[in-house]
Parts: sequence; structure tokens; C-alpha cells
Amino acid sequence: MPLSTSLESYTVWFVTGSQGLYGEETLRQVAEQSQQVVAGLAGLPVTVEWKPVLTDSDAIRRLALDANADDSVIGVIAWMHTFSPAKMWISGLDALQKPLLHLHTQANVELPWAEIDFDFMNLNQAAHGDREFGYIQTRLGVARKTVVGHVSNPAVRGQIEDWQRAAAGWQAARTLKLARFGDNMRYVAVTEGDKTEAELRFGVQVNTWGVNELADAVAAASDADVDALVQVYLDSYDVVPELLPGGDRHQSLRDGAAIEIGLRSFLEAGGFGAFTTSFEDLGALKQLPGLAVQRLMAEGYGFGAEGDWKTAILVRVANVMGAGLPGGASLMEDYTYDLVSGDEKILGAHMLEVSPSLTTAKPRLEIHALGIGGKDDPVRLVFTADPGPALVVAMSDMRDRFRLVANVVENVEAPDLPKLPVGRAIWKPQPDFATSAACWLTAGAAHHTVMTTAVGIEVFRDFAEIAKTELVVIEEGTTVREFQKELRWNQAYYRLAQGL
Ligand code: MN
Repeated sequence: MPLSTSLESYTVWFVTGSQGLYGEETLRQVAEQSQQVVAGLAGLPVTVEWKPVLTDSDAIRRLALDANADDSVIGVIAWMHTFSPAKMWISGLDALQKPLLHLHTQANVELPWAEIDFDFMNLNQAAHGDREFGYIQTRLGVARKTVVGHVSNPAVRGQIEDWQRAAAGWQAARTLKLARFGDNMRYVAVTEGDKTEAELRFGVQVNTWGVNELADAVAAASDADVDALVQVYLDSYDVVPELLPGGDRHQSLRDGAAIEIGLRSFLEAGGFGAFTTSFEDLGALKQLPGLAVQRLMAEGYGFGAEGDWKTAILVRVANVMGAGLPGGASLMEDYTYDLVSGDEKILGAHMLEVSPSLTTAKPRLEIHALGIGGKDDPVRLVFTADPGPALVVAMSDMRDRFRLVANVVENVEAPDLPKLPVGRAIWKPQPDFATSAACWLTAGAAHHTVMTTAVGIEVFRDFAEIAKTELVVIEEGTTVREFQKELRWNQAYYRLAQGL
């Protein structure tokens, strides 16, 4: 089945807490006003579904169990419109396994000062009802996002949208099957990791297949399917003359198309949403997969090169979190620096595998020699990422936990690069080059990252909170000294938080 990267099949439940003491008339108003709040959340990328007002422990626990059991429910938003004694929430919150957002809001914006009587006060008491709820969540250690304000405020909607996107990324991870073709690049440290722990922490199944199983799928590609895919290439890209039909290297383009067909059929047959390759283990494949990998990433697949399954997870998660937004997500590698003082830049690329979702321009489809891997020259898309805000995120296995490191960056206009035959991005990191690189190295962050131009740092913050995974962020205001301290504190915190 083709991979889905859409948020359309997902829902978020909206639950309102109250209690029986208020009587039917007040509870009717609570229900009505909470439905108005939900109506105010229309248009968010994930549909918010109103649930009946909860007034006792059994109903709360039942709702949590139902949310857990429904694969389309990716999170729960909770609001205590009135006072809902929080001991009623203990067993429900304890049972809930879906991401939680505590919306601290109110039905009205302005207070109707001249009208306020004690009935109004009884109905509109989230100001302390939600404090009772905050207490029990904190006492139970419930991971959640707290959002404060009226739903008509765009900042409130924006924070809820960020959380929805993070919850969708989490759902994608929990259901992700990742295929590794070949193992890790020999001797490389940071791309290694504990695959069993990854399944426990993120829900991702990481397993390896012999590359010749992929080669068999490539060999099975029919001439008719190759013809059709070549036509897609001709329609989509500026194809260099030597690769065109009749050109002296056209067969290489057909070989590249066969790789895409075989790879796609293997991934779809196995229900995989992410994969890795290894240039050291290409078996009977004629080329290192380049074009095929680029196009599959742009469709939503996760990918990591050299066996790097951790980055492949991040690319898949970022693709889902950014669904429907301009921009995209790609494997990226910090490659080389422009060290002109005060104007330092990072040139990022990979051997081949950078997603064309980073550009709105029409990529060139080219063929060049690749000195590594010992196979035929691979076909690849060549382009430069669009200028604009971006984020790079890496995952390291710190032995006792996974650490995410993110840097907020700005992709900039590139000078002409007439001799660089790969997709690339050129960026300036926050807060400045030297601080960024020093923090990155101090954190032990990887050379492989996901670069996303679709979602910002808040979505990754929410994701890390849901995943209960360490995230350190390098951004405006970051200093090396404070960052070092945060790493030391985290070292203690994350070990203690896991239990002894
Ligand atoms: Mn690499």
C-alpha cells in the first residue's frame, strides 16, 4: 500500500472536566460552551472532536481507555471549564497513553462586568479548575503541553497546531517499520545505536534485509513500468541531454528508474515508512540509489545513508509533522564551511541523497561519477535549497538514552556552484557559527541530520516532550557555557527520570 503522510485520518479528542454537584442546567451550559470552544478550533490540521462532559472517575478512565484503543486518535485536549475534583482524574490520567494537551482557556474573552452574579462565577471557573488539574498532572508526572489563552487568539491556535503536528509525528513513529539494506558503514560510531531501545522508546521497528533482496525487486521491474517512470522524470525535471532517450547514457536513467520501482515495491509490500542504504553493501544493484532515494524522501519516506536508521526515523517524523506545509524534510550532512569572518556559512549536502522537497525550483537530473562504492555512475537530482528559515536535528545514542540536538538556522542564497553535482543547502546557524558548532560538538551531536524547512523548533520541542526524550536546542540566546551546564544537568535528570 502506498505510504500515507497525510494528517487527514487523524483526530484529537476534546474533553471537558466538571462534576455532578453543579446540577443539570449548569452541566448543559458547560457542554454547550465546550462545543463552542471546539468550534473555535475548526480549521486546524487535525480535526478536534468534542466528547461529552466528564463528571466522574469511571467515565474519565473509560475515555482514556477508548482513546488508547483508537488508532486514529493521536491525542487528547483537556479543559476544566468548571471545578473537576482532580482525584477523579487519577486512574484516567494513569491509564492514558496518548499525548495530552492541557488547554487553559475560558468560554468568554471579556468579562461582562455589569452582569456577573454567582451563577456566572460557578460556570466560568477554569482559572482555578485548571489549577486543580495542573496539580494532579504534575503530581502524577504526566507529560503534557500546557497552552494558555482564548481559542480566538492566533498564538493559542498556533501552539495547538504545533502540538497536533508533534502528536502526528509521534503516531508515525509508533507505527513505523524501518528497513535497513545492509549494515552500518564500517567503523562509524555515531550512526550506530540500540535498535531494541529505539522500539521501546519510539515504537519504531528497525530491521535489516540483505541488499540482494532489494536487487531482486529491482530486477523484477518491467520495461513498461520503467518507460512510464522515465516519462515522469522527463516531465518533472530538467534532464541533461546525455540521459534523454537516444542520449548515450540513457540506459543509466533506466537503471535508476528500475531502482526506484524495485525500492518502492519492496517498501510498499513490507509496509515500511523509512529505510537506509549502505554504499559498502550494494550487492547486485547497478548504482548507489540516488534519484530514487531523493524522490521517496520527498514523498514522505524517512531515509538515512550509511545504515543511519536514527536519522531515517527523524526524516520520516519530520515529513509527517510538516504534512501540508510548504517546504520539506531531508537527510542532510554538515559538509564544509565558508569561514569568512562575520559571514560564516555551512554548506550541507550528501553523496546524492538530499530531498528535492527543499526547493521550489525545478531540479536538474544529471549523471556524474561517484568515486565511492565501486558501481556505475549514479543519476541524481541537483538543486539548492530555497532561502528561508530551517532547522537541523540530529539523534545520538548516549548509551543510556537517545539525545536530540537541534539548531535553528537560516538557509541563504547560494553562489553559483557549477561544479557541485548534488542537492545542497547553504545556511547560517543561530546564534552564530562559532557558538553553534561548539555547542553541537559538545553535545556529541551527529554529522547526519534531518533538515526541515516545513516545521519550526516548537514542533520538535513538543515531540521530544511527548517522546520523553532529551532535546537540547541551539538558537538565539544560546551560549556555550550555559549549554554545557544544561548538558550536565540533563545527564543527571534523564538518568534519574528513567529510574534506577
Ligand atoms: Mn553521510
